[in-house]
Amino acid sequence: MQGMSELHRYKPYNARTIRETPYWHRLTPALREAMDVVARVMPFRTNEYVLGTLIDWDSIPDDPILRMTFPHPDMLLPQEYASLKQLIEQDDAAAIKRRIEAIWLRMNPHPAGQLTHNGASLGGKVLPGIQHKYRETVLFFPGAGQTCHAYCTFCFRWAQFIGEEELKFNARESQELVSYLRVHTEVTDVLITGGDPMIMNTRSLAGYIEPLLELPHLRSIRIGTKSVAYWPQRFVSDKDAPELLALFRRIVAAGKHLSVMGHYNHPVELRQDIARQAVERIRSTGAVLRMQAPVIRHINENPADWAELWTEGVRLGAVPYYMFVERDTGPRHYFAMPLARAFEIFQAAYRSVSGLARTVRGPSMSTFYGKVLINGIETVAGEKVFVLQFLQARNPQWVLRTFHAQFDPHASWFDDLRPAFGEQRFFFQDEPLTAPELIPVLLETA
Ligand code: SF4
Repeated sequence: MQGMSELHRYKPYNARTIRETPYWHRLTPALREAMDVVARVMPFRTNEYVLGTLIDWDSIPDDPILRMTFPHPDMLLPQEYASLKQLIEQDDAAAIKRRIEAIWLRMNPHPAGQLTHNGASLGGKVLPGIQHKYRETVLFFPGAGQTCHAYCTFCFRWAQFIGEEELKFNARESQELVSYLRVHTEVTDVLITGGDPMIMNTRSLAGYIEPLLELPHLRSIRIGTKSVAYWPQRFVSDKDAPELLALFRRIVAAGKHLSVMGHYNHPVELRQDIARQAVERIRSTGAVLRMQAPVIRHINENPADWAELWTEGVRLGAVPYYMFVERDTGPRHYFAMPLARAFEIFQAAYRSVSGLARTVRGPSMSTFYGKVLINGIETVAGEKVFVLQFLQARNPQWVLRTFHAQFDPHASWFDDLRPAFGEQRFFFQDEPLTAPELIPVLLETA
């Protein structure tokens, strides 16, 4: 269905324009209806490469990439779907809007205290594009990078895509980030994230990154991106791909570690020649490509898929990094699985790969308190428990501390867990949320 020219030209489709493609008629009636109903709640965006290369149209409706990018009726609760569909049929704009807003609220749009607890401020001014959750790492959300080459239906940042703003490079943001980092010399790592920062052209990206190269305490720059899977042409054949790779080289030459945090959900994303070329181009600059993704029902439940992904990644020179647990937001009733199942999948996949792919860690939950690893399911002192460990934490004293939760076969997120051994609270619920040595700095800059 796809010619060579389409392979190299980025062409996005939304819930309206997808109807003009030949793929529309290959969707089942239920999926077409979901585009009318669900896509009003969850943002939809795809592109020609995802449609023509990644989705196997002979496998719909179960194709994993289709599930990952197209709305499905079950992504809303049955009563939500029925009532919204009815309002759409009645063409009641005000009631439709109210219904959609109510569903957004039910879907927990800002999980893990993103809005309330991770904000950064400088000189009394809140910096909306910066989150400082962990002592050494700052997350930066450039205004011009708040969209993606295609949207994932399970995205935990979906709330950022409702009511997309115009994309433009914001020089003020870049200056604010540098000013913040000049004060916070404890920060060694900046993660540029979104959306997808690689949606920006190279000039805009350079505008954000180049000022960071002057900061001596900053050691690593990470770029979180799904472009390696949804639009690998970004590194190979896009008009400014050579400038992008030159920017990567400049970062490395400035003595910084550059890590491209590649979001790969399924091995089909790495089976394409263009995706493999993208890995090769990224690596040729001296950057390291790390692989991470959540484990999700309907998409990557098969341990063999993970094993293939990690093994192929290692063969190409990428580093398996994280398997995440799907966060408690969006249509998680559709995508989430019990933690016990996530652990089983991880364990089976991990057991089947060689030591070189065992750089991967998981399943890991990005909770309000930090990144919590499910490190085992064991019987300790006669009680079946989840063995948990902090990989990262708001309070650095908690890192690598092991703790236990009662085993619950239905628990699918951290908040479902209860302390084991008759305890009332987990140890960290009685300790300061922030590193003690940081409190004076935070007060000074607040
Ligand atoms: S690429 Fe990442 S940020 Fe964009 S929709 Fe997918 S999960 Fe969300």
